[in-house]
Amino acid sequence: MSGTDHELKTVFVKTYGCQMNVYDSERMTDALATSGYAAVDSPESADLILLNTCHIREKAAEKVYSEVGRLRRIKEEAAESGRAVVIGIAGCVAQAEGEEIVRRAPVVDLVVGPQSYQRLPELVARAARGRVVETEFAVAEKFAALDRPAASRTGRHAAFLTVQEGCDKFCAFCVVPYTRGAESSRPVASIAAEARRLAAEGVREVTLLGQNVNAFHGEGPDGDAWTLGRLLFHLAEIPGLDRLRYTTSHPRDMDDTLIAAHRDLDALMPYLHLPVQSGSDRVLAAMNRKHTRDDYLRIIDKVRDARPGMAIAGDFIVGFPGEEETDFEDTLRIVDEVGYASAFSFKYSPRPGTPAAGRDQVPEPVMAERLARLQARIAAAQAAFNASRVGMTAEVLFERPGRHPGQIVGRSPWLSPVQVSADAALIGSIARVALTDVGSNSLFGRVVGKAGADRPVVEATA
Ligand code: SAM
Ligand code: SF4
Repeated sequence: MSGTDHELKTVFVKTYGCQMNVYDSERMTDALATSGYAAVDSPESADLILLNTCHIREKAAEKVYSEVGRLRRIKEEAAESGRAVVIGIAGCVAQAEGEEIVRRAPVVDLVVGPQSYQRLPELVARAARGRVVETEFAVAEKFAALDRPAASRTGRHAAFLTVQEGCDKFCAFCVVPYTRGAESSRPVASIAAEARRLAAEGVREVTLLGQNVNAFHGEGPDGDAWTLGRLLFHLAEIPGLDRLRYTTSHPRDMDDTLIAAHRDLDALMPYLHLPVQSGSDRVLAAMNRKHTRDDYLRIIDKVRDARPGMAIAGDFIVGFPGEEETDFEDTLRIVDEVGYASAFSFKYSPRPGTPAAGRDQVPEPVMAERLARLQARIAAAQAAFNASRVGMTAEVLFERPGRHPGQIVGRSPWLSPVQVSADAALIGSIARVALTDVGSNSLFGRVVGKAGADRPVVEATA
């Protein structure tokens, strides 16, 4: 009997990369549940093994091939005991490499791009009989499938919700427009229905996801294209949904409604992840970012005027082709000027098929040295931001027990972890915490009361 003929079938999904892949993996598991697959925690006990891959930086594909090598042994051992195992590669490596995957790794039965997950039950059934490669861009179909109620996942208090996929910006370093396709937005009614389902499950915080989330232009109930700001005003009305966030944004799409949402909505957390990538206008132009350093700084000022105390997070790439020491110094300066609460930083990684991949590359030791300097600067900015929160009282959504007995951990409005000594019964609820101390990445405090609609999310003094 083959693995896909079992009455009770099992699937193991391993997720690489971004939050959108985390969300996609959940929905893949949901789609497969409809054809009798139960999720398991180890590849050894699975009839179907799916790797949900990421292609954003170097070696992602190589990592996948070496993982497939390990899975081949599992498949062979299962075959010796008469059990057939199907191996599938999903996500952006699948989209980018397509047929090449089965040429290089014939043990792979199924290659499925990020926009065909709704068809997984049928594709897996076909893959059990012969190899299947499916890399169509069918985003409308994918969004429509998201309307089917997802499996209820009890015990979680914060969840992701995809509202937008793909990108039309074509930054010179980035594979997203090629692996996720053109920018496309989900209809408002479908997003709101999913948000209401999550709230009914007990989820208190929802993070709206998109590769370029503030380019959102989904169809509203009135037939008009709604902006992300308008969508946030709408979602903030849902009872029980106390906190909203969104990620990741592009500076060019920070429009006035979105800034007004930060000004007017208590539920919209005072946190903005707005990647700049470089502080040098020369490099920004070479990256095709279509904004200058000054444009970016002006947007940050506007957002902070609308919502004082806002936490800004960023992304940086060091060693983009043509980056000189003076360009890099501009990047260091912008870290200080913005005062980031946190930031991700990466060495430039040439992505096949993108414009910058063919340009003269910055030598690896130079990139490594710049990355270390940038990360030290970001760590200092983050420490200063956290230190500036001590003495404030802020609402914290408690999510899990801490490492030490009697400790629980939650998230501040600025997304930083907050640790307190308190009863585990508080997990899943929002409480007011007086912030008393700062650790390397987290804040410490004590619970001083319940969250209440009559008090602001953050107060300057305890
Ligand atoms: N849409 C967002 C924006 O416009 O900034 C970024 C989304 S991208 C999926 C996530 C991050 O990966 C980028 O902000 C960038 O810093 C990093 N990244 C993308 N391509 C990269 C590359 N080729 N090399 C290094 N880092 C890269
Ligand atoms: Fe990639 Fe973001 Fe640029 Fe789009 S806007 S191409 S997702 S970096």
